[in-house]
Amino acid sequence: MSATAADSTATTAAPPAGDFASLSPRTGEELARYPVHDGEHVRSAVRAAAEAAQWWGGLGFDERRRRLAAWKKVLVAQLDRVARVVADETGKPMDDARLEVVLAIDHLDWASANAKKVLGKRSVSPGLLMANQAATVAYRPLGVVGVIGPWNYPVFTPMGSIAYALAAGNTVVFKPSELTPGVGHEIARTLAEAVPEVGRYPLFTVVTGLGPTGAELCRAPGIGKIAFTGSAATGRRVMAACAENLVPVLMECGGKDPLIVDADADLDAAADAAVWGGMSNAGQTCVGVERVYVVESVAGRFLEKVRTAASRLQVGTAAQEGDLGPMTMPSQTEIVRRHVTDALEKGGRAIVGGADSVPAQGGAISPVVIADVPEDSVAVTEETFGPLVVVNRVPDVDEAVRRANATGYGLGATVFSARRGERIAEQLRCGMVSINGVISFAGIPSLPFGGVGESGFGRIHGADGLREFTRAQSVARQRFPIPLVVTSFRRTARTMQALTGIVKARHGR
Ligand code: NAD
Repeated sequence: MSATAADSTATTAAPPAGDFASLSPRTGEELARYPVHDGEHVRSAVRAAAEAAQWWGGLGFDERRRRLAAWKKVLVAQLDRVARVVADETGKPMDDARLEVVLAIDHLDWASANAKKVLGKRSVSPGLLMANQAATVAYRPLGVVGVIGPWNYPVFTPMGSIAYALAAGNTVVFKPSELTPGVGHEIARTLAEAVPEVGRYPLFTVVTGLGPTGAELCRAPGIGKIAFTGSAATGRRVMAACAENLVPVLMECGGKDPLIVDADADLDAAADAAVWGGMSNAGQTCVGVERVYVVESVAGRFLEKVRTAASRLQVGTAAQEGDLGPMTMPSQTEIVRRHVTDALEKGGRAIVGGADSVPAQGGAISPVVIADVPEDSVAVTEETFGPLVVVNRVPDVDEAVRRANATGYGLGATVFSARRGERIAEQLRCGMVSINGVISFAGIPSLPFGGVGESGFGRIHGADGLREFTRAQSVARQRFPIPLVVTSFRRTARTMQALTGIVKARHGR
């Protein structure tokens, strides 16, 4: 990894001039070079996007839907081509890359098909006191939405903002992660192929660079909202930059997602979910399984199943894909090593792998499962973002819920229970729960996606995800005059008496 491409978050100073390399995590080879866009470039992209927003916003829901459907078709036809860029830049296996493109296509379809129903003008009741008014609410686009993306799901994650923001009538300026700039260009290329007007109206523009380019996007005059996905630490910097112009923000940050295994759970399914949720994409999944709380009475059998399933996994090499690839960001191995070492030093038992599973620098980490890790270990308290799963026994599900809720994060969670899944889910302090399945909520476009606490706020996906990129506009239109005029200096004491009489009769009893 070149110094420029690795050092993403350290500074908010003006972007350095020049370019940076996108590297293959598998081979270390340079895939391509991209410009580091400076403030002037970013501001001019936002200006052009603001002009395009007049056209795009004015098209209306049906015309936008037609164009977004054409984009969907191009993405379907070129699924493998897009997935190849994802696999090359992240190092993940092709099938994982295909899966995220498939899910993004499904979200694009849902957003464009439902925008009119969710955001279109509708009448609401004016209430008794204002019965002479017609009341309507409509959700208008914000103009230009700035999307700042991460590298771990470089299509699926930003498309949760891009597709919904476009369907709502906004134009988008996208700053992909410096580790996956090529994916950003693929998203732009496919859209341009489907929507010929893009040449004249830049409704989707990619700006590339490191952290400072993202900060310029936050500060660019004319930005209506920033949709950020990344770490909570960077999220704080994004919020500080947006605060300068009172730009609203959507924060999709990290997690430390728990999986709870109840005494009556299907243990085969729970173990399969723990291993897939924890190890797929080399554990670099914001809603992946990082901690498991298993009820004591079934812990032995569950751990044995996890050991069998995790031991079978093949780690990819430069020549072969395997079940999980190398770490996309080489410096992440250092964090994973610290978590594994701390968990073992504090008394955790290695069930699969151990400190030796983590290579000295970069490369692929073999799956690690550690049981009985003290709750104050960093492997339990901090996001690991690597193929490490901690499995701790608990006396009952109440204790599992208490521990699950004991971190500052609150993104997703998984529950395996034959009878009590929904009751357990209700008690979890997080944004999304899968019961007897893993990460299922992310594939259901009508379900809002997002977290609480250190995991962020605001929602992508679903009706909430569409409204996130709009402003509600309320209109009250007088249909006929009434004698009871209270908002005028001509009102009389009798009018006010009548008004208070009505309120007492209606609300005072
Ligand atoms: P990151 O925070 O390092 O970077 C995210 C993006 O922010 C990058 O594009 C980066 O260039 C940009 N950036 C950096 N500094 C900036 C600044 N000062 N101003 C504006 N932009 C700046 O995150 P990452 O390493 O790319 O992604 C991994 C993190 O993302 C993990 O914590 C993961 O859990 C989280 N994540 C969350 C979700 C979710 O939906 N909640 C989804 C995927 C990833």
